[in-house]
Amino acid sequence: MTMQRPLPVLDHLSRPFWEGCREHRLRLQKCGSCGKAQFPPGPICKHCRSSALDWITSSGHGTIYSWIVVRHPVPSDVYVKEVPYVVALVELDDGVRMPTNIVGCSPEAIGAGMEVEVSFVDINDTISLHRFQPVAQLHGKSA
Ligand SMILES: [Zn+2]
Repeated sequence: MTMQRPLPVLDHLSRPFWEGCREHRLRLQKCGSCGKAQFPPGPICKHCRSSALDWITSSGHGTIYSWIVVRHPVPSDVYVKEVPYVVALVELDDGVRMPTNIVGCSPEAIGAGMEVEVSFVDINDTISLHRFQPVAQLHGKSA
């Protein structure tokens, strides 16, 4: 049996996020008390502990805060065809940092502060994964 890529398991906290991804919308929780956004989703606001959380759709625009380049397909060979790939922390304009992949450019071209925008890849009938790519890639401009 071939190993499959591990996929997100939806629970009552994460379901609205993944359902948003399925519709190609990047959704975040926003606090009705202090106005700050948060990710990953939680039962209360991590800033002020209010439970007045709502879901908003992010612009999906941000900058690369940090990143690593994965060159060895561990812990399994599921990712053999994908290496090298980039795992990054993107700082969204909404003020949250989101773990993700960077696509659409070579790992060597990536730098801190690079402007990126979200895109989605449909994995199956229920799961679409979010990833980011350089803004210049999306709009055909040179950086
Ligand atoms: Zn709050």
